[in-house]
Amino acid sequence: MGVGVDVHPFASGDSGRELNLAGLHWPGELGLEGHSDGDAAAHAACDALLSAAGLGDLGRLFGTADPRWAGASGAALLEETARQVRAAGYEIGNVAIQVVGNRPKLAPRRTEAEKALSAAVGAPVSVSATTTDGLGLTGRGEGIAALATALVVETAGNLS
Ligand code: MG
Repeated sequence: MGVGVDVHPFASGDSGRELNLAGLHWPGELGLEGHSDGDAAAHAACDALLSAAGLGDLGRLFGTADPRWAGASGAALLEETARQVRAAGYEIGNVAIQVVGNRPKLAPRRTEAEKALSAAVGAPVSVSATTTDGLGLTGRGEGIAALATALVVETAGNLS
């Protein structure tokens, strides 16, 4: 089992940055700031996978000093993370993500997000969402947070 958390602040209204969240593009929604595309849901999933496999965290794998990952999509980071988890001798069981924030409303696109993220991971990814009843940074609309868990199983060749 692994766990991951990520938070990104909303970009300023005049930044022109568009929202990418849970593997989807959200036209007309204010974007999130970050070295990559700011997809907090995908990043939390990456960290959960790395945590489960004992491979460290996103910062170690895709450091902000590495220009290869500047502007990278959450799905691209997830794909590479899943590749590394499998290369380390693990099969991926599933990933569960919960997004915390006021907007966007995830429910109408939840299935679409699950499809996109599951394709990136190569295993089932579930997405749920909640708010914090106006409390904290997400409640004040300053950003979006996401939590994730992941289950991985050692493949036969990795058992010793
Ligand atoms: Mg992040």
